[in-house]
Amino acid sequence: MSSDGVYAELGVPTVVNAAGTKTRIGGSRIRPEAREAMDRAAESFVRLSDLQAAASDRIAEVTGAEAGYVTNGAAGALLLAAAASIAGTEPGTMARLPDTDGVADEIVMPRTHRTGYDHALRTAGATIVDVGTNDATLGTGARNVEPWEYADAIGEDTAAVAHVYKSYEGPPLAEVCDVAHEHDVPVIVDAAAELPPAANLSWFTDQGADLVAFSGGKGIRGPQTTGILAGRADLVESVAAQHLDTHATASVWDPPERLLDTERFDGVPRQGVGRPLKVGKEELVGLLAALDAFLAEDHEAIAREWRERAERIAGDIGGVDGLSTTIEDGAKSVAPTVAVAVDPEGAGTSAADLVLALRREDPRVFVGADGVDRGTFTVSPMCLTDDEADHVVARIRANLGDESGD
Ligand SMILES: *Cc1c(COP(=O)(O)O)cnc(C)c1O
Repeated sequence: MSSDGVYAELGVPTVVNAAGTKTRIGGSRIRPEAREAMDRAAESFVRLSDLQAAASDRIAEVTGAEAGYVTNGAAGALLLAAAASIAGTEPGTMARLPDTDGVADEIVMPRTHRTGYDHALRTAGATIVDVGTNDATLGTGARNVEPWEYADAIGEDTAAVAHVYKSYEGPPLAEVCDVAHEHDVPVIVDAAAELPPAANLSWFTDQGADLVAFSGGKGIRGPQTTGILAGRADLVESVAAQHLDTHATASVWDPPERLLDTERFDGVPRQGVGRPLKVGKEELVGLLAALDAFLAEDHEAIAREWRERAERIAGDIGGVDGLSTTIEDGAKSVAPTVAVAVDPEGAGTSAADLVLALRREDPRVFVGADGVDRGTFTVSPMCLTDDEADHVVARIRANLGDESGD
């Protein structure tokens, strides 16, 4: 399990990924079907608008949305969703973004849904308007945000409502969509990490969402740089106009009509705010191949595999002095996750020092560190092989001076 191949040639240590699908350590293992499709895609040229039109058909089919688009990551999808909500099919507004002077640019969202990915919405030019309180999160009260608060915040400057979906977090998406639609405002959903289950591909659209962002490089296991945006055809048309390379002369501007109807545009849009978010033909084809393979997969068998691996890891680590384990069931992650509490007295080290020591090994061992300042870390079975899981357990033991597992 030492660093090998292309990374060794670069002198870069590889990572044993016990943290789950995290972008900073490479996301997920891309499926062989996707790699093979990317290889074949590299053999010839193709017009990207044709390819996006085909992708739109396929995404519409599997999500039940009117249309779809392949973006560079869910974060790229969020930026494009905001740009489409703000500009519609106005080439003038498209050309000015992220400058939104004189244009409705507000995106209303619960303050409890704010994340670092908000920046993607703001990069398109959006101003975020917070609603609700943090009471339910802080324990100072029961209420988070309620439908009337959305209604109160939506006005003539509103471009969209945004919703970051987590199964344990309210309010119900269908209610949010109802309020937004009463005011004729689209709802953008960040569902980046909500696959599997495959049923979630259509669930958000069924609830009434107008644009849904999924990561292509997490549970789908497509190219790490890809994402999916599924939604209303008019909004996807605006996405295409602001994302595709549009250095075309008007007289020969001829994108596929089902993706982008030139009749609806006064002229060829300038290179849009989404143009820096390029998606290559190989990534696009790889994502579609990964999506097909994801749909064909036996998700129950995979869930069983994850659970068995998690239980084995929990059992192996739980016996170590100073460590105690529980298995967290899939709300914060699509896979069951082993939560490990470190008692510094018994373990002889803190959670933070252990996590850091593991990361400094070769290969680097990455465990989930979100709770490290509270004395816990997590081990996710999702991106580990069984051999790698054994390695993680052995290295945790070895770092605590227990070599019996090695
Ligand atoms: C991972 C994630 C993103 C970003 O997805 P990328 O595909 O890496 O761009 C956005 N929002 C949430 C909630 C995520 O978990």
